[in-house]
Amino acid sequence: MKKYHLRKQDKEITDSGELRKILKHGKFITISMCRNNEPYIVTLNYGYDEPGNRLYCHCALEGLKLNFLESNSHVCATAIQDLGYVDGDCNHKYRSVVFWGIMCRVEDPEEKKHGLTVMFDHLESNPEHFKTKTFDDATRLQQVTILRLEINDITGKESS
Ligand SMILES: Cc1cc2nc3c(=O)[nH]c(=O)nc-3n(C[C@H](O)[C@H](O)[C@H](O)COP(=O)(O)OP(=O)(O)OC[C@H]3O[C@@H](n4cnc5c(N)ncnc54)[C@H](O)[C@@H]3O)c2cc1C
Repeated sequence: MKKYHLRKQDKEITDSGELRKILKHGKFITISMCRNNEPYIVTLNYGYDEPGNRLYCHCALEGLKLNFLESNSHVCATAIQDLGYVDGDCNHKYRSVVFWGIMCRVEDPEEKKHGLTVMFDHLESNPEHFKTKTFDDATRLQQVTILRLEINDITGKESS
């Protein structure tokens, strides 16, 4: 996808390490989807798989977002590092990314396990507890949908 340039270029974050930092820091993303001309948007927790430059999310086995993704796997998403509203300055400080990619259901059990591991490591202060609980019982893995979001393009912006 051809990028539309950021109007306020002094606010643009171009350094790939800084863009990755925002994804590493965040706990949730908001994902927009489209089916024919119908839009839909949801917020999900995620884990960032930095070596693969992809995100993993988990959800129930059914639901509207899965219907949308099955019909069109192209998504646009955002993660925001909220640095707070500055009262009296009429300003909100933030660092954020907007990214485009393909979001698909993971079918391979080994990759599902990998996706959950990435999520536990990213979100939890004691990930080992959740890994043991989840991976010791094979049925748990079957009761959850793991989604992989491959990032194809990303932009960053900050307001300080
Ligand atoms: C910070 C945060 C983190 C979250 N993390 C996760 C996560 O990791 N995994 C996960 O599965 N879900 C998470 N959720 C909930 C998620 O946003 C969805 O509600 C959920 O995934 C169900 O989506 P669905 O399309 O399957 O909805 P369905 O159960 O199919 O319901 C569809 C209907 O419910 C409405 N709806 C769905 N979600 C919301 C909502 N959040 N607020 C208002 N209306 C809604 C839709 O507009 C639609 O009418 C999180 C929400 C927040 C705010």
